[in-house]
Amino acid sequence: MINIEKSLACLRCGNALLPKETYEYCSECLLGFKMEVEELDPKLLKEKLVEILDGFTSDVRAAFQKDPAANSLVEVLTSYPGVHAILIHRVAHFFLKLGLPFVPRYLSHIARQNSGIDIHPGAKIGHDFFIDHGSGTVIGETSEIGNNVTLYQGVTLGGTSLERMKRHPTLGNNVVVGAGAKLLGPIKIGDNVKIGANSVVTKDVPPNSVVVGVPGRIVARNGKRIPKIDLFHGDLPDPLIEIIKKLEARITELEHQREDLSHK
Ligand SMILES: [Zn+2]
Repeated sequence: MINIEKSLACLRCGNALLPKETYEYCSECLLGFKMEVEELDPKLLKEKLVEILDGFTSDVRAAFQKDPAANSLVEVLTSYPGVHAILIHRVAHFFLKLGLPFVPRYLSHIARQNSGIDIHPGAKIGHDFFIDHGSGTVIGETSEIGNNVTLYQGVTLGGTSLERMKRHPTLGNNVVVGAGAKLLGPIKIGDNVKIGANSVVTKDVPPNSVVVGVPGRIVARNGKRIPKIDLFHGDLPDPLIEIIKKLEARITELEHQREDLSHK
């Protein structure tokens, strides 16, 4: 028989430790299974569940409309990894909001195993969301995505800080991000923006723009090609060019020093 009175108390929650609990914390604390939830309002709960269903309906519709290869809704429902990933994500995000420990993250892990798409349960995603093909797509914890956004395979919405703060991108409405593009840091991507495949974007992008390259450069705005770098929005430094310029200056300096020495 277990004698709880003789056990020591858990250092975190103060509950008595069971004889088999040899650590200083109880099993619940070690596993992180503590759940602190305020009383649930049934009306609010219903609203949230309807929101999930509406979101999911819009995602299936978006996949069907945006992919010319989609022949039927059954095909989309059963065979589209992006659709599976966002369905599981919407449920995981809801559980996270409820304060349920562990389960949201485990759901996202299951979704990743099935689809190759890694969406952190904390990410906020609007309706009509579509990830085409999907493998390798990563959406970080503090990402925010507007409505009618399409991502292709290999897209990363990544963080650039080790602090627990807003550290992932915010995307507006009607944004398309091409395959392999990396959007890094808490940057803002405006409405109606297209980002070219394999671009690396680390700075804000104004609405109605097209961005390509590494680092991402704005090449068109309002559907028109931008003839030259616009200092207001497009002053995007090229780190590689900056390094090469510094190296050139250094080499010139060293050459002058060598000449001076040879004249002495
Ligand atoms: Zn404990």
